[in-house]
Amino acid sequence: MKKLLAAVLAGTMISACGASVMAEGDVLVMATNAEFPPYEYHEGDEIVGIDAEVAALIAEELGMTLEIEDMAFDSVLAAVQSGKADIAMAGITVTEERKMTVNFTDPYTTATQMIIVAEDSDIATPDDLAGKTIGVQLGTTGDIYVEDVEDATIERYNKGFEAVQALLQGKVDAVVIDGEPAKVFVEQNEGIKLVDEAFTEEEYAIAIAKDNEELLEKVNTALNTLKENGKFDEVVAKYIGDGEAEEAETETETEA
Ligand code: GLN
Repeated sequence: MKKLLAAVLAGTMISACGASVMAEGDVLVMATNAEFPPYEYHEGDEIVGIDAEVAALIAEELGMTLEIEDMAFDSVLAAVQSGKADIAMAGITVTEERKMTVNFTDPYTTATQMIIVAEDSDIATPDDLAGKTIGVQLGTTGDIYVEDVEDATIERYNKGFEAVQALLQGKVDAVVIDGEPAKVFVEQNEGIKLVDEAFTEEEYAIAIAKDNEELLEKVNTALNTLKENGKFDEVVAKYIGDGEAEEAETETETEA
């Protein structure tokens, strides 16, 4: 584990040196937006999280070293298209539109968009979002899908946490954001809660340039190996663990 984190850390430092060292030889460059706990976030000088660790394991399977390039979420797909990065891994939801610009690996997780509201909010279901002011993170599926909400005003922020801050300050009525970061933000802040019903259901996958089919195949093989040998689940359990079990319980209670 220490080795992995060192590789991730080294990647973070090397990436500051610029494009010339990237995407060469045994280095796997990953584009991400490290503002998305528990998938990728800063812990001191390091970028940690499920995606960061799984990517390091994939690189290891390929006999490569991982380098992480941290950027705005709405730049990660362009980074693989332009060759600035080899893979983009940032809790990226597979959508038909994105499939037109990049290839996706097999999905590695199912995900949701959830709604965060103030504890005393009258928003209790996704339908209640009509006519409200909704905070989202720019360029995410939350941003894309709230466009369909009737009469809603959309406020776009660069970071998910900035949207949550706007909610805490009463500037927006709700935030639509991926379920796992939503749980983290609700845990870390008083006075806000999750709406039980998810806004959408989605799948995350790793994005790779259209013209790099060879890497797509290799990454899929590595991902499969990690799922089969239990290493993938180990990483997920480390970051999500009991939260999932709790969620399953809540769902059963709601259904009963
Ligand atoms: N899953 C969302 C998307 O793909 C958000 C990802 C993120 O903010 N890192 O748009």
